[in-house]
Amino acid sequence: MNKTFSLLLGLLTLRLIAAEERPANELTEVWQPVPAVVSTPVGSVPSDAIVLFDGKNLDAWEPVRAGEIGWKIEEAAMVVVPKPKPCDLRTRQSFGDVQLHLEWRAPAEVKGRGQDRGNSGIFFMGLYEIQILDSWENPTYVNGQAASVYKEHPPLVNASRRPGEWQIYDVVFIAPRFSAEGNLLSPARLTALHNGVLVQHDVTLTGPTPNGASFHQPNLPPYAAHAARLPLQLQDHRDPVAFRNIWVRELNLPGAKPLNVHPAFQP
Ligand code: MG
Repeated sequence: MNKTFSLLLGLLTLRLIAAEERPANELTEVWQPVPAVVSTPVGSVPSDAIVLFDGKNLDAWEPVRAGEIGWKIEEAAMVVVPKPKPCDLRTRQSFGDVQLHLEWRAPAEVKGRGQDRGNSGIFFMGLYEIQILDSWENPTYVNGQAASVYKEHPPLVNASRRPGEWQIYDVVFIAPRFSAEGNLLSPARLTALHNGVLVQHDVTLTGPTPNGASFHQPNLPPYAAHAARLPLQLQDHRDPVAFRNIWVRELNLPGAKPLNVHPAFQP
């Protein structure tokens, strides 16, 4: 036995002894990497959140059509001002995977019914809408009620509060991934809580939710390759819906895992 071999054998034996000496419960412990610290002060936002509206101004937002705003700040809330030609707002910053917190309020005075009552919406990447609607005792198609992924997924339950009461959405949105050639690698996914109640659990989006030109089409629009980050958009549906406390956390998740994507999802 040469010296090098006996040295290696010795080291291996020491290592085995050391491993054996660790208490059994420690063998399942992981110490690295240490999760980053995010402070969560009472009554404030997480330290790594990007605040999109804190009641003071609309600086984080721009109208989708230049020169038109049509939203106002009233009692520290941003409110849609109904007008003949609606104008959505979008964030100046673009986002991919995000955790979103947003509070919204449908008008206390009930006007209209179905989709014409307290309608707005949040479009992740300007394309994928989670519906905002006054769904308190207001029947409509279920894949269009509050907390639905519009025309794709009804909410698991209706957790709506009465019109005029503030409501809370907490949403985790995972952006779709596309190859350099523009093929869909993995579809968008979404999990949502409405007033603290789970309403969407890791649902897979079949493509962009219908809006604009695609709204009157009989089929849901398919995926079309787009940028990895795009602005978040709030819908002006001519109803004076109010918003407050809007923030996101960029999730910086590892790259999408290749999935077995249904052929129908391919662009
Ligand atoms: Mg809507």
